[in-house]
Amino acid sequence: MAQRSETIDETGIEQLDAVVIGAGFSGLYMNYSLRDRLGLDVRVYEAGDDVGGTWYWNRYPGARCDSESYIYCFTFDKDLMQEWEWSGKYPEQPEILRYLNHVADRFDLRRNIRFGTRVTAAHYDEGADRWLVETDTGERVSTRYLVTAIGCLSVGNVPNIPGLETFAGEWYHTGAWPHDGVDFTGKRVGVVGTGSSGVQSIPVIAKQAGHLWVFQRTAQYTIPARHHTVDKAFLDEIKKDYDAIMEKARWSYGGMPISPIERSALEVSDEERLEIYEKAWAEGGFAFFRGSFYDIATDRRANDTASEFIRSKIREVVKDPEVAEKLVPVDHPFASKRPLIDTEYFETYNRDNVTLVDIRHWPITEITPEGIRTEDGFYPLDIIVFATGFDAMTGPFNRIDVRGRGGQKLRDKWAHGPSAYLGIASAGFPNLFMITGPGSPSVLSNMPVSIEQHVDWITDLIAHMDAHGVRRAEPDPDAEEDWVAHVDAVAGKTMYLLADSWYLGANIPGKPRRFMPYAGGVGNYRKRCDEVAAAGYEGFVLT
Ligand SMILES: Cc1cc2nc3c(=O)[nH]c(=O)nc-3n(C[C@H](O)[C@H](O)[C@H](O)COP(=O)(O)OP(=O)(O)OC[C@H]3O[C@@H](n4cnc5c(N)ncnc54)[C@H](O)[C@@H]3O)c2cc1C
Repeated sequence: MAQRSETIDETGIEQLDAVVIGAGFSGLYMNYSLRDRLGLDVRVYEAGDDVGGTWYWNRYPGARCDSESYIYCFTFDKDLMQEWEWSGKYPEQPEILRYLNHVADRFDLRRNIRFGTRVTAAHYDEGADRWLVETDTGERVSTRYLVTAIGCLSVGNVPNIPGLETFAGEWYHTGAWPHDGVDFTGKRVGVVGTGSSGVQSIPVIAKQAGHLWVFQRTAQYTIPARHHTVDKAFLDEIKKDYDAIMEKARWSYGGMPISPIERSALEVSDEERLEIYEKAWAEGGFAFFRGSFYDIATDRRANDTASEFIRSKIREVVKDPEVAEKLVPVDHPFASKRPLIDTEYFETYNRDNVTLVDIRHWPITEITPEGIRTEDGFYPLDIIVFATGFDAMTGPFNRIDVRGRGGQKLRDKWAHGPSAYLGIASAGFPNLFMITGPGSPSVLSNMPVSIEQHVDWITDLIAHMDAHGVRRAEPDPDAEEDWVAHVDAVAGKTMYLLADSWYLGANIPGKPRRFMPYAGGVGNYRKRCDEVAAAGYEGFVLT
């Protein structure tokens, strides 16, 4: 049990052991782990008015998880794993939010969370080895440990289009959706963006809208989800062997219990390859990517076979050949961007009330009070939906004034791209730990698995520090540099550098290009983290 801090210092500032920023999956579990396992005095700050993070904010129509329900959850409590009943294969947003509320209630996690409170600044006081944390409600607290659970996809990206402020209708970003919903009935709706949120919301909005215009910059590869392929009997069966299944996920590539595939797409006959793709397509979901051939992700020729198969499916589904060609991705290989899964996405373009607008060749020039103007036309609209994604991974950090030793700003240190040892900590910022930070598997994985691994690892490090009287832990700059070079090198062996994606920061004008997540796999990463801990936190300077 750690030494507890005094509550208030002589200047009247509250003294805490730990501050956690964010109350999504990461913040909830970090709170539990530091508070209930280590007995620390913890405060959680959350900008939203309740728990849930991603699932609190993203309430757009069709919002759901692409990870299968039984792996998209916590595993730290066996009773919780057994008692929660998922309704099907991929839970929708309300169901995940219910789950996170249940977790918060079950472990009494709300009592030390300050909701509706955004952390604006965190400055390290070298003399005291403490962080001074400030919020937008004027709170100031001092803490020994600062943990960011601020999410990789929590800062929405609304494109800077001239005239948006003049638009007379309603507009929304999918990542900050109104809690009481939006009524599209009979309305002229424009959806801008065809990434994951666009692909999920477009089919649902199309069913309600009078007419829907989809403004597409990048055509996408997306795999049918096939929700119906999982039922209650299957989920009950999982629970009989749940521990082993999740252990497999922990040591897998993507945090999913999928066995590594030995087969190469280039070593089978054309007929056999087609049969395997057809089977995976019929099964749906990420299994197409991870369960058909091992080299889709690493070999361009193997990848071409998968990309071409999906293109053929698009041409098969979309009836108008001209529209189909616009929907066929040709400028990047499959899985060089975040793989998408969908429900009747391509089928939606067969509807009479849906029009695809190509803004790759004829970009949007302005928004007027009446609608959207592109280089080749004008589209009168009542509602605009920006499904334009997020300022991923570094965005939430850049919105906090984080200053470490010598007053160095994290923003400045990361001006040319983020740099963090194991994606957990950054040199010059002692006792600041990041859950799913840049340089960790994070967004390339089924995230609850990665989140639990980070929380457990950070908890062990803090327990180690307390047990050994360590006041400061921060990465050795050389270890950090080596790790960042390793992250770059691993990304270089994949398809990921072949597309302009948010993984690289390419969706945000002016954002430095660096492949931010770690593509070496969840299992390999876990092994490295375990080795670092076993070697007395090798690569960290413990003072
Ligand atoms: C639409 C969508 C679909 C997704 N689907 C999947 C999926 O299928 N599988 C998967 O593994 N992952 C998916 N993800 C990723 C998802 O973000 C993670 O799975 C997981 O929810 C992350 O949890 P988190 O707690 O780390 O971050 P978040 O859930 O993003 O929570 C971070 C919280 O921190 C708060 N915060 C940030 N900055 C501050 C601040 N300065 N002060 C106070 N509070 C702050 C935010 O308000 C937010 O509530 C999806 C994400 C999105 C957006």
